[in-house]
Amino acid sequence: MKENWDVLIVGCGAAGLYCALNLPENQNVCMICKEDIEHSDSYLAQGGISMLRGEDDYQEYFNDTLRAGHYENDPKSVDLMIRYSNTIINDLIKHGVDFEKDQDGRLCFTKEGAHSKPRILYHEDETGKEITSRLLLEAKKRKNIRIYPYCMMIDLLEKDNRAYGIVVQKDQTIFPLFANSIVLACGGIGGIFKNSTNYESLQGDALSICLHHHVELENIDYIQIHPTTLYSTKKGRRFLLSESLRGEGARLLNIHGKRFVNELLPRDLLTDKINEQMRIDHSDHVFLDLTPIGETALKTHFPHICSRCQEEGYDVFHEPIPVVPAQHYFMGGIKIDLSGKTSMKDLYACGETSCSNVHGRNRLASNSLLESLVFAKKAAEDITFSQYEPKALLPFTMKEMYQDTSKLMQDYQDELWSEIERWKLIHERNNIEA
Ligand SMILES: Cc1cc2nc3c(=O)[nH]c(=O)nc-3n(C[C@H](O)[C@H](O)[C@H](O)COP(=O)(O)OP(=O)(O)OC[C@H]3O[C@@H](n4cnc5c(N)ncnc54)[C@H](O)[C@@H]3O)c2cc1C
Repeated sequence: MKENWDVLIVGCGAAGLYCALNLPENQNVCMICKEDIEHSDSYLAQGGISMLRGEDDYQEYFNDTLRAGHYENDPKSVDLMIRYSNTIINDLIKHGVDFEKDQDGRLCFTKEGAHSKPRILYHEDETGKEITSRLLLEAKKRKNIRIYPYCMMIDLLEKDNRAYGIVVQKDQTIFPLFANSIVLACGGIGGIFKNSTNYESLQGDALSICLHHHVELENIDYIQIHPTTLYSTKKGRRFLLSESLRGEGARLLNIHGKRFVNELLPRDLLTDKINEQMRIDHSDHVFLDLTPIGETALKTHFPHICSRCQEEGYDVFHEPIPVVPAQHYFMGGIKIDLSGKTSMKDLYACGETSCSNVHGRNRLASNSLLESLVFAKKAAEDITFSQYEPKALLPFTMKEMYQDTSKLMQDYQDELWSEIERWKLIHERNNIEA
């Protein structure tokens, strides 16, 4: 594996891949990921990706995003995301992404919680897999992009607040990788929670490493719990029951079979209502009734959800299924500006690991794939068009802490938890004073 690159991208989900594809082909790009290339949350996205449906929808889309985010969103980031959405969708279609269309070949749109109208494109209930696998296919065709799975970033190499490279572990070997620009696209933090819809390997490594090197983080206590995941007593990732099921008519019932809530409330408020209902009923789950959607629509729009529930022994066409809230998404992250730049020179971030503050305190459904792609493109543009100042070589020294990487990663997680708690206290204090 070569040691020096033009651009180094850590993470092979939608954000990392799209960033790589937006870089010029004369740039040598190295992409690494922690496990198998397909083990990223981008593959798991079910519901879809939002887009602006013409100028008429701008204000409502903007308002929906801000309302869901409790008006803590950065309006400039929200504007950028919405305005860029058509470019991104066109680009995805050019890359071969097959969004659902009607008989006349027009794009179909679905609606999810807290969206005031249908503006979400989808591919069955596997939109993330459709998008990410197409991006991966394109990236593999590019001669300038090399992808290295099972290669874990364990540290950042920096001097005087300028990024030079990273330290990685691959096949028990530890070595440095250097680059002019480094992009962190390491996804969320679900792996540090007991119940999460995320891959267990997504443990906020980039955040901990940034924390270590004094790169600014933002709102890292803003963590979204998804209201409806399939209840299970087994260990491991929780299976998500997409918000669009509720958008299409699924009903939430308490353990006595009674409807108790408006299913289209924003995620955080709905989660609170479900938790309250579980407390009242002394139960560890509630039920989601998919039967109002109808068997035909369920089979065509949600085939994978249906078959997964059937595998777990539930007949979704005739009976409600048990559901419970679980950690799902991370609104905070490594602070970035509108060009994906972090507070450290030559260090960029995009996707769920970053915080552009599009989402504020709570993400509007189906805004995250879009946000990931928009800021991945912005980072690639900044890398392409800004004047690069050459830097001298930085000697690599093997540190004591690299000897035991399991311990190192556990220490990182402990530090991240402490920092999350610190942010929580700051927000609580600010809310009391406000
Ligand atoms: C079940 C589920 C359903 C979802 N549904 C939707 C939806 O319908 N619409 C929507 O908009 N969003 C949805 N989301 C959210 C969305 O999928 C994610 O926010 C988005 O895909 C994040 O993309 P990403 O590229 O930032 O991260 P990911 O796709 O998670 O990729 C992270 C990458 O970083 C790598 N990595 C992490 N740490 C290291 C390290 N130390 N060294 C090397 N590599 C590392 C990983 O191996 C991986 O390749 C859903 C999420 C889940 C979990």
